[in-house]
Amino acid sequence: MEHESKAVLESLGISTTGAGLAGSEEEAVKLFKSLGSAAVLKVLSPQVVHKSDAGGVVLNLKDEASVRKAYREIVAAFRDKELAGVSVQKMAKPGLEVIVGVAQDATFGPVLMFGLGGVFVEALKDVSFRSIPVSESDALSMIEETKGYALLKGYRGSSADVGALKELLLKISDFVVKNPAVSEMDLNPVFLYPKGYSVVDARIILGEPRPAPPAPGKLDLHDLFYPNSVAVIGASGTPGKLGWNVFSNLVSHKFMGKLYPINPKADEIQGIKAYPCISAVPEPVDVAIILVSAGVTPDVVEECCKCGVRYIVVESAGFAELGSEGKKIEVDMKAIADKYGVRLLGPNCSGIINTHCSMVQSIGLVDSLCKGNIGLVSQAGVCAAGMLWGLRHIMDFGIIATIGNKLDINETDMLETVSKDENINVICMYLESVKGGRRFIDVAKQVTLEKPVVVLKSGRTEAGKKAVASHTASLAGNDQIFSAAFRQSGIIRARDYEHMFNLTRAISKQPFPDREGVFIITYAGSLGVIAADAITDNGMRLSELEPPLKERLKKLLPDYVCGMNPVDYTFSQDADIVKRTIEIGVDSEDVGSFIVVLQAEILDSYVDTLKSISYKGKPIIACVAGKEFALPDVIKMEKAGIPVFSTPEEVADALAIMYRHHERVKKAKAKLGAK
Ligand code: ADP
Ligand code: MG
Repeated sequence: MEHESKAVLESLGISTTGAGLAGSEEEAVKLFKSLGSAAVLKVLSPQVVHKSDAGGVVLNLKDEASVRKAYREIVAAFRDKELAGVSVQKMAKPGLEVIVGVAQDATFGPVLMFGLGGVFVEALKDVSFRSIPVSESDALSMIEETKGYALLKGYRGSSADVGALKELLLKISDFVVKNPAVSEMDLNPVFLYPKGYSVVDARIILGEPRPAPPAPGKLDLHDLFYPNSVAVIGASGTPGKLGWNVFSNLVSHKFMGKLYPINPKADEIQGIKAYPCISAVPEPVDVAIILVSAGVTPDVVEECCKCGVRYIVVESAGFAELGSEGKKIEVDMKAIADKYGVRLLGPNCSGIINTHCSMVQSIGLVDSLCKGNIGLVSQAGVCAAGMLWGLRHIMDFGIIATIGNKLDINETDMLETVSKDENINVICMYLESVKGGRRFIDVAKQVTLEKPVVVLKSGRTEAGKKAVASHTASLAGNDQIFSAAFRQSGIIRARDYEHMFNLTRAISKQPFPDREGVFIITYAGSLGVIAADAITDNGMRLSELEPPLKERLKKLLPDYVCGMNPVDYTFSQDADIVKRTIEIGVDSEDVGSFIVVLQAEILDSYVDTLKSISYKGKPIIACVAGKEFALPDVIKMEKAGIPVFSTPEEVADALAIMYRHHERVKKAKAKLGAK
């Protein structure tokens, strides 16, 4: 109840209006007199949640008579309720009303909430979240993120002590960390003042202590990605079977290690000696891929464990995603793997692709791949391997890891492992749920300082969630909390499938802009104007060339062209003039990045020239309207390292996201360095 909660808060050094418990009218008067100021009386009952709704709060009582009257009224109004008493407290001077709260999230555990309190909180939903524990910068950014921040900063003279508010958030976070039985909290409202604050109403709800999240498996996952030998249990010589697909992917991509097809009915498969069972393989096996039906999988897993296999990839489906029976098989399988200390990927996944050791374990047949710097971690196999057929032309993947039902190895383990791979510079993830809980945030926070992480998280809507549940048997958490968790860890959240691959492609091919100024070169005035609007909408700006560079540019421009940015060459634009214009931009202190709008019909004529320019670390993205009709040339341009997007808005959005990410990392690193 309020008086107990406020006592707890006071003990943490959090200032409140206090709350004395009066069991009688006389006690209420005595408490009032001890306050030495106007009082507030409130009902105290475990059965009353919203005290003011039922007339349980009487404000601004200045004399004994009105205290007596208020006491009697409250007791009368709640006579059918179990009454603990009436709280007598100081009337706080008016301030800006905010709410600070704690809730439990199914994925991340306790989360801290901040928002504009009072009547606004339900109506405006102007609240922000962070997973607990929150850092100082988390606390600040969750305050700054609310629309109400403008009011806190000062509006018509009033302002609030943001520093004190930040301290309050940190204290609550710390309190929750130290007291696992705290399940929810509501400090609503807290009055903020130009100096300090006062907690006016408080409630702490206790629950069962939170269970600790599962500890990650001990065996490091490096060799799962770089095995010396792979056995395929259920490898088949019959085209069309999954066991044929997986094995021929390994063979056709020329896996660098040894291959052991396991099939009791064959002597050899696709020209490679086969064995009847895993125990018949004469040499040690690092990774066993299992493709047999779900029912017999646990036995096969156990056999693998006994033979010293270190990693098991279960690509078969028919487990938890189908219901309780499948779930039970999973539980058995996990117990076996844990007993032997073996790590298990899947079930219901499409294995791993690592182009750097020519290993393709996918269920679907995969065409030739280039070695690349993108690491893709995907919950669903189709989102990973399925889109490869097309995307491999314009994106070079190093690793594609599918995780399926995440029985043992989860998204956090994958993120951690892939981020350590020297061949990988950018990580992109498709997730339907997060199993690692808070560890995901802690790992991602570290990773994003070194390698950018782009995440598409589905299951945002209720309908989406249902589809997830029947799809990979995992429950998606609250979407707002996911956004908060991603922000907290420096993850770039993609809006949709295309956005994820656009951002990943740009980041994998281009450096980050390190200033806001954008230089636009175009052959179509309209697209230049749209680009200029779009960069402004995205919080960037047009760069302003220095006077000597303007002179240089003027000499290049035909008579009828006057704009300096966007530079609009109309249909006279060709590769040479674009090159010379870019070179001017490269020399400018105010240019952080380039948008070049190119004509689809003559895209080919730009490829070699654009590739030859020394950009000195400044990124360039091409915008080609109608690019889907010029795909062969788009592919050439992409292979030359220049991303091609369809619209100016997409380009501006990507550059702005890249810029902000870069700024965030710079700041975070500077802070770490200062410590
Ligand atoms: P509940 O939220 O249970 O309805 P509160 O204790 O939050 O009850 O009181 C309702 C409102 O009354 C608060 O939002 C606040 O505006 C005002 N109020 C409550 N206590 C005080 C106080 N001690 N000083 C000033 N205003 C108060
Ligand atoms: Mg309240």
